[in-house]
Amino acid sequence: MIGAMQAPPLRVTDLIDHAAREHGPREIVTRWADGTTSRSTWAEVARDARRFAAALVDLGLARGDRVATLAMNHGHHLAAWYGAAGMGGVLHTVNPRLFHEQLAYIINHAGDRVLLYDAMFAPIVEKLKPELTTVEHFIVFDGSGEDGFRALIDRSDDGFEWVTGSERDPCGLCYTSGTTGHPKGVLYEHRSNIIHALASLQPDVFDLSTRSVFLPVVPMFHANAWGVPYAAAMVGAKLVLSCTNEADVLWRLFRDEGVTHSAGVPTVWLAMFADMDANGGDYGRLRRAVIGGSAAPRAMIERLMRAGIEVAHAWGMTETSPIGTIGSRPGDWDDLSFDRQVDVVVKQGRVPYGAELRTLDDDDRVLPRDGVTSGRLQIRGPWIIETYFGDDGGPAIDADGWFDTGDVAILHPDGVMQITDRAKDVIKSGGEWISSIELENAAVGCAGVAEAAAVGVHHPKWDERPLLLVVRKPGSTVCEADILAYLSDKVAKWWLPDEIKFVAELPHTATGKILKRALRDEYRDYRLPGA
Ligand code: ADP
Repeated sequence: MIGAMQAPPLRVTDLIDHAAREHGPREIVTRWADGTTSRSTWAEVARDARRFAAALVDLGLARGDRVATLAMNHGHHLAAWYGAAGMGGVLHTVNPRLFHEQLAYIINHAGDRVLLYDAMFAPIVEKLKPELTTVEHFIVFDGSGEDGFRALIDRSDDGFEWVTGSERDPCGLCYTSGTTGHPKGVLYEHRSNIIHALASLQPDVFDLSTRSVFLPVVPMFHANAWGVPYAAAMVGAKLVLSCTNEADVLWRLFRDEGVTHSAGVPTVWLAMFADMDANGGDYGRLRRAVIGGSAAPRAMIERLMRAGIEVAHAWGMTETSPIGTIGSRPGDWDDLSFDRQVDVVVKQGRVPYGAELRTLDDDDRVLPRDGVTSGRLQIRGPWIIETYFGDDGGPAIDADGWFDTGDVAILHPDGVMQITDRAKDVIKSGGEWISSIELENAAVGCAGVAEAAAVGVHHPKWDERPLLLVVRKPGSTVCEADILAYLSDKVAKWWLPDEIKFVAELPHTATGKILKRALRDEYRDYRLPGA
């Protein structure tokens, strides 16, 4: 006997149709790179998406074909995103901050047939063109000419019928940054995106409703802007999209557009703090700040919470669509002191229903959820990767569906997960582990420290010892002794760095995280004092 309920395939085109039908006039605001602002609505985005789907078919694209974007966040990108999926294609968001070789590799590997790009990335595209073997059509997103996106969709028909199919059809593609070897493609499905979006609406995750105004600072090329463009369509939230991430532009948008929700990596928030300290400014109606992509430092969380903003500290990765866990408030939240509340938020939170976590030791034994034992973190669920795209294929998971994240974590008895480190970044000192994340995030709490990175340096006796690289805040004279004194009651004594070195800047990845690999390579054989 089978059930007696309807089971339409879950397709992302239903999201844009729903948004257009039920929330048609709700605004989509774009702040373009040239400083102008344009206003559209969910109904107009849905219309543009249909036109773009029709245009892709006219260009000869077929089901399963890949359409690449090299673009910031804006309304055209959003329309292209739904339009490509609506013609049965796959929207491949490419990160323009990657190196030339990585860009060429990724676009060729994906076999993209169309490349849409922002005018500001034209120099990158010109340089890439001779090496791209599969791209047949180049379209400028914000160009006003005949070859521009606007002209293309204005020539097309609104009456395009979405291509239908299985909910397991692919509709999105995003490459991991490839910290080792070539980047790998993660192919998202209609079904996985919808389930991820449903999970992300919850009060304990993004807490979204029709009244929400979301400005995702996180770019659409960074793990689908954490799924915000899907979740926002589901509830008809207003979206505010910005082509630039300059702090003063963002603050003005927050204030002028009544932004209630935002999301970004820690470096984005650091830049905003620095701008506010220098030029003033306020958070407007911002109510919820999602921070993820790297561990949010305690001082950052405290500053936002003191301003009355709820901080949702999230952990995830490209392979997890990307939400893995997010900090929800526990039942006794209101009874906790401010410091205890911050203790909760610095951890990475719980999985939403649907996903599951476990930790393993080096012999693959499942570890207890005891709040102290750390091990390799694994995750499984309906929005977690099964296989990588193309010939990197083969299962990314074990026989029971567990995906090994490459992170080291502690699971607490109440379900909360706490990232200790990336397995590769852990500092191994005398057979014990020092968490580089904990060390650097403690250090940025010290007055005068703008940014910090802890790396393991080879040591003849201890195997590795921590070196802390610090960028001072402008005008600060903070010295090694000040930072060591500050850290002394925050971490175990044997965790204290053997040296603190001041640097002008730290290298960042294409998604704004500190590039630990480069620092490890640079300092691996550095001579620490006394070594
Ligand atoms: P990459 O950094 O390789 O491009 P992702 O953007 O998918 O790939 O990053 C995923 C990784 O980022 C996770 O495996 C984890 O190491 C780190 N990460 C993400 N969020 C957090 C967080 N809140 N705390 C600590 N680490 C995090």
